[in-house]
Amino acid sequence: MCIIKNLYSIETGNFKLDGGAMFGVVPKTIWEKTNPADELNMIEMAARSLLIETSHKLILIDAGLGDKQSEKFFSHYYRWGEYSIDTSIKKAGFKNGDITDVFFTHLHFDHCGGAIIRKSGELVPRFENANFWVNKDHWKWAISPNSREKASFLQDNILPLEKSGKLNLIGASEKPLGFDLLTVNGHTEKMMLPILEFKNKTFVFVSDLIPTAGHVRVPFIMGYDTRPLLTLQEKAFFLEKAAKDKILLFLQHDVRYEVIDIRKENDKFKLNKTFKLEDI
Ligand SMILES: [Zn+2]
Repeated sequence: MCIIKNLYSIETGNFKLDGGAMFGVVPKTIWEKTNPADELNMIEMAARSLLIETSHKLILIDAGLGDKQSEKFFSHYYRWGEYSIDTSIKKAGFKNGDITDVFFTHLHFDHCGGAIIRKSGELVPRFENANFWVNKDHWKWAISPNSREKASFLQDNILPLEKSGKLNLIGASEKPLGFDLLTVNGHTEKMMLPILEFKNKTFVFVSDLIPTAGHVRVPFIMGYDTRPLLTLQEKAFFLEKAAKDKILLFLQHDVRYEVIDIRKENDKFKLNKTFKLEDI
């Protein structure tokens, strides 16, 4: 059990992805109502991390895209807006050196890139005092990626975590940081979603299981998912529980909404209310 003193939303910097790839088999005429596309068919994406303050730890969940890749690499992702991970941590009242732990839901570049920086030609942690936490089966998956996910698993983001000597590989049933985990396998191998108890409410950091509020409907599954039929089952199971137990979903990639809850209506799950984390 870990007693959470406070939660802070950490905006690490927005980007864009292809709307079609983000919605799989769903037609554009439907998804563009919630996620409007630009002239290149790209939709706006947040890369929102969560900072958890406990009595003796400061835990960052995921770390955004970072800034060390080439111009050419970033030209595919249309970064926009003023947010940066350093500024957002400062705004929450902390220094990078205060972060004791960085927990990764998974190692796709838009979730872990910001944890590693280039300093005097070396790839080193941005958070010099932090331990890193990754699922052990996901780690194996990420260091020898299949060709479909290869563009998302950048070894420049991943191998320096091990080299730092601060990498901890954990099993799906462990909870070394005190909070429970929901582990899902449809998006990628063993993505871990933190379940947090705060202010008498249950929050789940839903990562790429439900990337934006436009993805609440069960079949609205990203084209990126490695096992979409498994995501279908995992989403249906999770949303059933979320609607019944009034669980709050912390959204990582939605530019408009930080936190939402869900209701079930005529056998379909729908967005119920939207919240700012600081107003809860
Ligand atoms: Zn992902």
